[in-house]
Amino acid sequence: MRYPKLRELKEAIRALIKGPYTSSYPFKPHTPYERFRGRPYFHEEDCIGCGACTQVCPTGAVEYKDQTHDGVTKRILTVHWDVCIFCGQCQANCLTDKGIVLSQEFAFATTEKREELTQVIEKEVALCECCREPIVPVDQYRWVCQRLGPLVFSNASLLLYYLRTLKLSLQNMIFSSSKSGLLRQDRIRILCPRCRRDAVLKS
Ligand code: SF4
Ligand code: SF4
Repeated sequence: MRYPKLRELKEAIRALIKGPYTSSYPFKPHTPYERFRGRPYFHEEDCIGCGACTQVCPTGAVEYKDQTHDGVTKRILTVHWDVCIFCGQCQANCLTDKGIVLSQEFAFATTEKREELTQVIEKEVALCECCREPIVPVDQYRWVCQRLGPLVFSNASLLLYYLRTLKLSLQNMIFSSSKSGLLRQDRIRILCPRCRRDAVLKS
């Protein structure tokens, strides 16, 4: 007859005293451990729409699209819970640390369609004042300005955006008529990197 090892004996005695490790869920509510990774949620007020989470998600559960309606461009960010594997990479790589956060929700059984297992948020996007291509979400500009502090003066687009938030510059600049018509003064506009390069080279 083989005798149990001491370690196993110790575990058995401990289990007898402390009770079982398993929970009685679903008969009783279950509270997950503090670091449990459950369903991720966007926190709209903390998300700046940068899209970093979409680049690190291994399953493509987070995605964004830039859509324009009536001259206003918005970035639509979506998290698809049906393909999420709860790895936590989106939260770990979020620029603000709080834009997307994994909750402790773990019970996903549902009769909803897969397409409805999503959370969608929208962010207004700043447009290039020359070619009108989307640059970055307005919230991202604001966040970068706050992080840079006085260094914001090193970038014309950021500086102009910052001055507008302080109401020290025109809120709505007239768009340049065409890209070929870029002039020296166009350098003092909010421009995408390509138009800024052209404006600098032509001035
Ligand atoms: S937890 Fe992982 S799989 Fe789910 S959305 Fe975040 S990065 Fe993607
Ligand atoms: S702020 Fe965070 S949650 Fe929002 S798009 Fe960027 S990485 Fe994703």
